[in-house]
Amino acid sequence: MQFEENVPLAAYSNLKIGGPARYFKVIRNKKELIESLYLAEEMDLRVFVLGGGTNILWSDRGYDGLVLKPEMDFIVRNGNELTVGAAVPMKDIVGFSVKAGLAGLDWAGGLPGTLGGAIFGNAGCFGGEMKDSVAEVESVDLKSAESKRRNNQECGFGYRDSVFKSGGISEIIVQATLRLEEGNADDLTRRVADEEKYREEHQPLDKPNIGSFFKNVRVEGLPRVQVDPYRHTLKTDPFPVIPAAYLINEAGLKGAACGGAVVSSKHPNFLVNNGGATTADFIALIEQVKKEVKSRTGIELEEEVRVIK
Ligand SMILES: Cc1cc2nc3c(=O)[nH]c(=O)nc-3n(C[C@H](O)[C@H](O)[C@H](O)COP(=O)(O)OP(=O)(O)OC[C@H]3O[C@@H](n4cnc5c(N)ncnc54)[C@H](O)[C@@H]3O)c2cc1C
Repeated sequence: MQFEENVPLAAYSNLKIGGPARYFKVIRNKKELIESLYLAEEMDLRVFVLGGGTNILWSDRGYDGLVLKPEMDFIVRNGNELTVGAAVPMKDIVGFSVKAGLAGLDWAGGLPGTLGGAIFGNAGCFGGEMKDSVAEVESVDLKSAESKRRNNQECGFGYRDSVFKSGGISEIIVQATLRLEEGNADDLTRRVADEEKYREEHQPLDKPNIGSFFKNVRVEGLPRVQVDPYRHTLKTDPFPVIPAAYLINEAGLKGAACGGAVVSSKHPNFLVNNGGATTADFIALIEQVKKEVKSRTGIELEEEVRVIK
């Protein structure tokens, strides 16, 4: 067993930027995973788990440890349940389920990334979230190499959160069982196609990006004087929020740029790589957006995406 060395991570981010991983290993099964974890322990390496790279902003200096890339990619159907490997793209799981007339994931049309990443961040959109379908998750502790099984409750799902995320990347999700319901394949297929079309029309999918950079702003807890000007823009996400895109637009930031990092004019909560951007460009642009939104609207935006250091 050997790790690859100095592997450029730009190829493993949808944003197409980032320095090299000191060590890198593709994991095809549990045996390879356990061996890699023992070797990482021996070499005293910290470990990062990579999914589809659709929500990752690598540092320009790269990652000075071991990046593990799971490639467990199977879907097994048992009645209304699917047991799925962590590396399976959500697109394939959604496609498989709607074709089989199974409802429950049809909110996820066009959601990029893998099952592992979607569970880690409790991905959601169009009124649905991963937590609505997850029956059980199997993971392996990155330190002890012990397997764990958790039911839905034990996954601690919250808004774009789970026990895996709040635990600070200490486990690797290897597979999960999703519990779905009988539905109509034609209706489900139509819904997914509509969502994909919506994304194409509203998101800058032609430029390297990693989705929304800022969290939508939760209304609860904000003073009325801050919410009232934006009442007409409120969305449910799954609780009432002011869309970050609206605030960024209000601050006149569409098209704002730092080097190759640009605020998309199509969807201002997407910061895109317009060519040749560095992570430093993105960090500078994030700061500029936060500062100008705060001075213009009084509201503090919080990043949804963080640099992996
Ligand atoms: C165009 C676009 C649109 C998007 N729209 C949405 C949206 O509507 N809703 C939404 O919620 N998100 C959205 N995203 C963000 C992103 O797609 C999701 O967060 C996705 O679930 C990330 O999955 P991934 O496999 O790419 O994870 P990665 O980006 O590779 O990793 C994200 C995090 O998950 C962890 N992780 C990944 N796999 C595992 C695993 N097997 N075990 C443990 N940890 C793991 C990583 O360590 C990392 O911390 C969008 C992104 C893009 C580019």
